[in-house]
Amino acid sequence: MDFTLTPEQELFRKSAREFALKELEPIATELDREHRVPFETLKKLAELGYLGMTVPEEYGGIGADMLSYIVVMEELSRSCASTSTAFSVQNSLCNTPLVEFGNEAQKRKYLPDLATGKRFGAFALTEPESGSDAAGMKTTAVAKGDYFILNGSKRFITSAGFADIFLVFALTDPAAGNRGVSCFIVERNTPGFTVGKEEDKLGIHGTSTCELFFEDCRVPRENLLGELNRGFKVAMITLDSGRIAIAAQAVGIAQAALDEAVKYSKERKAFGRLISEFQAIQFMLADMKAKVEAARLLTYKAAWKKDHKLDYIMDSSIAKLFAAEIASEVADKALQIHGGYGYIRDYKVERLYRDARITRIYEGTSEIQKLIIARELLKE
Ligand SMILES: Cc1cc2nc3c(=O)[nH]c(=O)nc-3n(C[C@H](O)[C@H](O)[C@H](O)COP(=O)(O)OP(=O)(O)OC[C@H]3O[C@@H](n4cnc5c(N)ncnc54)[C@H](O)[C@@H]3O)c2cc1C
Repeated sequence: MDFTLTPEQELFRKSAREFALKELEPIATELDREHRVPFETLKKLAELGYLGMTVPEEYGGIGADMLSYIVVMEELSRSCASTSTAFSVQNSLCNTPLVEFGNEAQKRKYLPDLATGKRFGAFALTEPESGSDAAGMKTTAVAKGDYFILNGSKRFITSAGFADIFLVFALTDPAAGNRGVSCFIVERNTPGFTVGKEEDKLGIHGTSTCELFFEDCRVPRENLLGELNRGFKVAMITLDSGRIAIAAQAVGIAQAALDEAVKYSKERKAFGRLISEFQAIQFMLADMKAKVEAARLLTYKAAWKKDHKLDYIMDSSIAKLFAAEIASEVADKALQIHGGYGYIRDYKVERLYRDARITRIYEGTSEIQKLIIARELLKE
């Protein structure tokens, strides 16, 4: 068993780390405070080819493997989880389903612009009354001539404030449950489609999260992504691999929290000694380190299995569940090690504590990961 990254994967890690230190670290606090999306930084990510990491070169991407993408995701998340969220929505939730389910014309039309950051994408599955139970959606799409007419709404859609292309899931056969869902490529300027207000969130303040509304929205037939009534499969397969990136985000946030805690413990004195000399602090740091390492290995394993075309569904849920849960725990302990200063906005750990929390919710809550793991475990 080889635990080393390939020279190419190491190069991705190195360049992502350098980018994060130079471009993200200096602005992350400001984005958080001002609730600002870092367009200028996303542009620079695009110039490096990062917005088309897993898109084949023939469609304008750089054709990297999943593990390289995951390593980049982890490194960006160590410095700015908001930037890494937009990065992952573009790669995992928009580019990947287009690569895997798009026909040739759709790939040629959309992927080159998405891979190079000329256009941004979003993934719209959740609705006001259906999140975990995604098949309980109410949005409908009715075929009429050369169009599908969409009616309904979506909730909590990341990057919606600025995205140009939305992958929207709607019922094409309402009586058939999850076998009656289809996926559509909806362009922002489509008549009948509007984007609602920005949500005010606990963390990842540099991301955009909005509601979407469809009122007799006319989507051309050729914008059906994948087969009619097979859209639920598109959503689930997309999320199976997207979850590995969220696990990587959690690992990155947890690593950053550990780094901050180690640094602070070697600076802060109490009772005439550095707090790093107290065994209680050392034990907290040791627990944090062990958990971050375990989460990283689970995450890399899931990515590696995807790269090797092995069944990775359970691995991706295990990685996401474990990494997300320990990210909150590690960020909490890091805040504790900072004492009162950890509760103050001037310290990075305060942002990490808030940003870590979302990883237990989006792309399937921790409870839903447990359902998937149990389902895989008990099948046959
Ligand atoms: C900042 C942010 C960004 C997001 N971005 C996107 C996006 O880009 N695209 C998108 O489509 N969605 C997005 N979402 C939605 C997100 O995926 C959902 O919020 C999530 O899946 C949970 O759905 P819900 O909020 O409806 O909670 P619910 O499904 O109502 O769940 C409420 C609680 O019940 C639990 N629960 C539900 N069912 C079960 C069960 N069967 N067994 C045990 N427990 C259960 C859940 O785990 C949770 O604790 C985003 C959400 C947020 C907050």
